Amino acid sequence: MNSLENFLSTDEEQEIVSAILMAEKKTTGEIRVHLECRTSEPIDSRAKNVFHALKMDNTKLENGVLIYIAIENKKFGIYGDRGIDKKVNSNFWNKTRDVMQYHFEAGAFKTGIVEGIKSASEALEKFFPWETNDKDELSNEVSKGEL
Ligand code: CA
Repeated sequence: MNSLENFLSTDEEQEIVSAILMAEKKTTGEIRVHLECRTSEPIDSRAKNVFHALKMDNTKLENGVLIYIAIENKKFGIYGDRGIDKKVNSNFWNKTRDVMQYHFEAGAFKTGIVEGIKSASEALEKFFPWETNDKDELSNEVSKGEL
């Protein structure tokens, strides 16, 4: 059994992609979700490394946000680029983390991810409102595996 492939059903994955699409209609920010089986690194440093490996630091306004989940470690991290990190306070990241944790503890992983996307997009929308010439700079698909 491959836990990476079974973590979310195809339908759940599509709901996440839709949540990203909806969020990005209101902001120039970019949100991605990455799943990995396990990591031996501290979760926040791994999230940061995956962020860079996915080239999420290439957005024009430095406003990419990564939700990274290490399934077997039962841990997740949220990493936001410099542009957004300069604008929001630590409460924002804590709020997003808490809402995800709440659902994850109940085993509701898809809901936790979708609610995390919504929470992150509130801040993105506030500080980086959508612009008419906005481009979808990063894929909305859930990415998986080692990078
Ligand atoms: Ca995108």
